[in-house]
Amino acid sequence: MKAAPVRRIDARQHGLTPDRVSPNAVDVTARLQDAGYAGLIVGGCVRDVLLGLTPKDFDVATDATPEEVRALFRRSRLVGRRFRIAHVRYGRELIEVSTFRRAVAEEADERAHSEAGMILRDNVYGTLEEDAFRRDFTINALYYDPQREEILDYTGGLDDLETGHLRFIGEARTRVREDPVRALRAIRFQAKLDCALDQEISDCFGEAAELMGAVPPARLFDEIQKVLMSGQAERAWQLLAGTPLRAALFPGCDPQDRLVSRAMRNTDERIRADKPVTPGFLLAVLLWADYQARLNDLLSCVSPAEARLQAATDCLGEQQQIIAVPRRFSLFIREVWHLQDRLQSRQARTIDRLAGHARFRAAYDFLVLRAESGNGGDGDLAEAADWWTRYQAVGGEERLAMVLERQTLAPKKKKRRRKSRRRRQPDGEAAS
Ligand code: ATP
Ligand code: MG
Repeated sequence: MKAAPVRRIDARQHGLTPDRVSPNAVDVTARLQDAGYAGLIVGGCVRDVLLGLTPKDFDVATDATPEEVRALFRRSRLVGRRFRIAHVRYGRELIEVSTFRRAVAEEADERAHSEAGMILRDNVYGTLEEDAFRRDFTINALYYDPQREEILDYTGGLDDLETGHLRFIGEARTRVREDPVRALRAIRFQAKLDCALDQEISDCFGEAAELMGAVPPARLFDEIQKVLMSGQAERAWQLLAGTPLRAALFPGCDPQDRLVSRAMRNTDERIRADKPVTPGFLLAVLLWADYQARLNDLLSCVSPAEARLQAATDCLGEQQQIIAVPRRFSLFIREVWHLQDRLQSRQARTIDRLAGHARFRAAYDFLVLRAESGNGGDGDLAEAADWWTRYQAVGGEERLAMVLERQTLAPKKKKRRRKSRRRRQPDGEAAS
């Protein structure tokens, strides 16, 4: 990689003053520098502050080894398997401190790359400059020194930030081959920063899609989660759905599915309104069509209960091969799916229990979204969604009336055996 001279820019020229970044990140850099190490704020947080956005978190880069960082900060611990980084805790804020690393050239160490050129090892320490060049995009490789109030730009990131350009450091094809996840990151940043994508980058999506299968599923979950929870999920999905990455990541999902785009928009709005969101919900949406297709196939051979169970197991099981959905989310997804039928059929005796179910709210939101996007194909769905909206809005007496009304609507039992061995309730329901 040809090394350009570093540009040192007075950060105040860009309105970047220490009070715009986390005081805890400033403290980490100050303590590192006092101990004789380099300490710089780096990456997405510098980019976001320069764009006037609020960073999610602050990262610090240093030439101290993780062990040296650990020794310097009492409230720190080392994490990470692929490469070790230090987490320094300040109350609820975590500052991630990573040691400068460098990219290992493919020629220099063949063990560091797979045959396709994918990086297998990238835990080799390096200099500040090497650390800048191993990063993905120019706008993600800016360093801020809050003590000197200086920005360090090795890759032309400041210019790209000003002109709204997302550009890989180095050749796009090589960078995507080294790590196909970078293609997904390109889409995320394009949506988040509303910036132009180099043609060079879009040209790589096909190859990235082919290589996606070699990425550890746990890592793909992390990156997908960032896309879904970015507050720009609708836009990111639009972009993603137009690339071969969609089929590589969610083979069972229809890119035109209105339920998906509607749910993404809804999640973005919730994030803007500071309401709680979970990736489980959007994954339930993304996989819903596939689950339904499997369910329909299975219904012709097994009981509905068995079919639901099997369809969910198959659908989630296959998706897990690509993206490792943590168990708490896959359980959430199963429950939300399972509740759909029950919310729609509204059997009188189950209504109270349903409304008190831990996943009721999520399942209700899901039902409403399905109704709004015409998913389900009949007016019944809209009627059920409206019914539950009303049910939650009215007081106890009206609720009771609504339940009683459901009871009278319930289909009568077809035949009564004269001598039933099962005791019957006064309303004709079998006691269970
Ligand atoms: P966000 O604000 O969404 O967290 P970010 O840029 O901080 O965006 P992170 O995933 O937190 O993204 O990564 C932190 C930094 O690490 C990036 O800014 C980039 O410099 C570097 N980085 C992350 N992933 C890669 C990658 N796959 N290849 C090269 N550099 C990467
Ligand atoms: Mg980050």
